[in-house]
Amino acid sequence: MWRNGATAGTVGRTMAIAPPRGKTLEELRFANSFAALGDGFREHRTPTGIPGARLVAFSPEAAALIGLRPGEERRPEFTALVAGDALLPGMDPVAGIYGGHQFGVWAGQLGDGRAILLGEVHGADGPWELQIKGGGITAFSRFADGRAVVRSTIREFLASEAMHHLGVPTTRALAMSAGDEPVLRERVERAATMIRMAPTFVRFGSFEIFHYRKQHAEVRTLADYVIDGFYPECGAGEERYARFFGAVVERTAALMAQWQAVGFAHGVMNTDNFSILGLTLDYGPYGFVEAYESGLICNHSDESGRYAFDRQPTIGLWNCYALGEALSSLLSTDEIGTALARYQDVYRSTFLALLRTKLGVAGVRDDDADTALELFRMLEARRIDWTNFWRALSNSADGARALLGEDEASRAWFERYAALLAGDPRNEDERRTAMRAVNPKYVLRNWVAQEAIAASESGDDSVVQALLDVVRAPFDEHPEHEAWAQPAPPQYRGLSVSCSS
Ligand code: AMP
Ligand code: MG
Repeated sequence: MWRNGATAGTVGRTMAIAPPRGKTLEELRFANSFAALGDGFREHRTPTGIPGARLVAFSPEAAALIGLRPGEERRPEFTALVAGDALLPGMDPVAGIYGGHQFGVWAGQLGDGRAILLGEVHGADGPWELQIKGGGITAFSRFADGRAVVRSTIREFLASEAMHHLGVPTTRALAMSAGDEPVLRERVERAATMIRMAPTFVRFGSFEIFHYRKQHAEVRTLADYVIDGFYPECGAGEERYARFFGAVVERTAALMAQWQAVGFAHGVMNTDNFSILGLTLDYGPYGFVEAYESGLICNHSDESGRYAFDRQPTIGLWNCYALGEALSSLLSTDEIGTALARYQDVYRSTFLALLRTKLGVAGVRDDDADTALELFRMLEARRIDWTNFWRALSNSADGARALLGEDEASRAWFERYAALLAGDPRNEDERRTAMRAVNPKYVLRNWVAQEAIAASESGDDSVVQALLDVVRAPFDEHPEHEAWAQPAPPQYRGLSVSCSS
C-alpha cells in the first residue's frame, strides 16, 4: 500500500516496478450467472472451432473493458479462444433460448443458433458477457449451420466498434478470426468467428418466448435477473417491474434518436434483435445513410420497407409494445400504458437535443426543429451526403454552402440558421470545435466495409485493421484515408446488403 504517506517520489518508484497492467487470459475470472438460471433458459454447448483460423482484428478498447493485459492478443491461445477452438478455465458455455417478432409476425422459438455465451468477466465498470458468434450449431440452429462468414463478421466487428466510438450504445467486439472452412451462402464463402461483448445479451424476445408459452414464472425469473444485474435503480417489490419496463422504453426511445441522428439504419429490427439494455444489437444488413434518403431500405429482403430508415422510431415503439405484452403477467394495463406513453417524449427530446448539438445551437429555440426539418427536406431533394454535410457545417459556412447549393432556397436556409446561432455565447472557434466533436468525419460506409472484406477474403487483413483505426477516432481527420469519408465511387453504387450472413 503506497497510498498512505507516499510522496510523489515513492509513488514514482512504486509505479516503475508495478506489474504489467491487466490480466493474462488464464487470470481472467469467469462467472456464469446467465447459465445459472437453469435448464429452461439455455442449453450447455461447447463451441465447434473453425480449422486453420487466423486472428483478423482485435479491439484494444474492448479488451481493456475486461482488464485483459495488452499483448495477450498476440498469443496463439487468444486466437484459439476467438476461433472457438479452446475455452478458458471457469467458462461454462451455453446457448440461450429466445423468441421474436420477425417483420411484425410472431416467429415462435428462435434462440442462439450460432452464438454461444462463454461466461462473464467483471471489469472495472461492471460485468461483460463474452459471446462467440459463428461457433457452430446449437439446439437452436434449426436448419442452419451455426456459422458466420468473413463478410458478415467483418461488418459486425467494425460496426460495433464504430458505433461505440460515435457515442451510440452498442454491443462491443473483442476480436474476430477467419478460417478455411467453406460455408455456403449465396456463394461459397469462408467461416469466421467473433467474440462480442455486452453486459447481457438478453433481448426483448428472451421474455416473449416464455410469455407466449405461458411460463410466467420464467418471465419473472428473467425480469428479476435483468433488474438485479442491470437495473438496480428499479428497487425491490412488485413496483420494480413497472419501473424496469419504463426504463427499457426510455432507453429504446433514446437509442432510436441516436440512430436517426447519426444516420444508422439497422435493417432487421425484429424483437429478437432488440437488447433489453437499449444497445444496438445484431449487425446484419445495416447501413449508414449516405446521400440523404429518409426512406432508405438497406436490407434487400425488406420488401415492404418495414424497417426503412424513417420508420425506425415507430418500430422501436412497436417493439416496446411487444415487450409490454411479454411482461403483462407482471404489469397492469395501466402500468404498460404509462410507460409506453413516455416513448414519444423521450424520443423527441433526445433527437432534438442531438440536432441542436449537431447544428451548434446553444440554447433551446422554438423554431430549431422546423429549421432542421427544412434542412432535411433540402438534403433529401438534393441527395446530399448526410455525414459530409454536417461535417462541412462544422468546418466552415462556405463549405456547407457549396454542398447545399448557392441558390435562393439555400441562401434562405442559411439565413434561418444564422438567426438560430445568434445569441450563442461561444465564439465561432469554440462552436466549431464543439460541432466537430459531434459531427463525425467518418462513419462505416458500406462501400468502405466492402473494401476491407474483399481484402480479407484474399488474405490481407491490413485494411480491416486500418479501417478499425479510423472508426476508433471518427471525429478526427485521417488525411491518409480521406477517400473513406467520401460517398461510394461509381462501381459500388447500389451496393445492397443481404440478410444472409
Ligand atoms: P438474425 O436474423 O441474424 O437475427 O437471426 C435470426 C435467428 O436465426 C437467430 O435465432 C439466429 O441465431 C438464427 N441464425 C441465423 N443465422 C444462423 C446460422 N447460420 N446458423 C444457425 N442459426 C442461425
Ligand atoms: Mg439476431
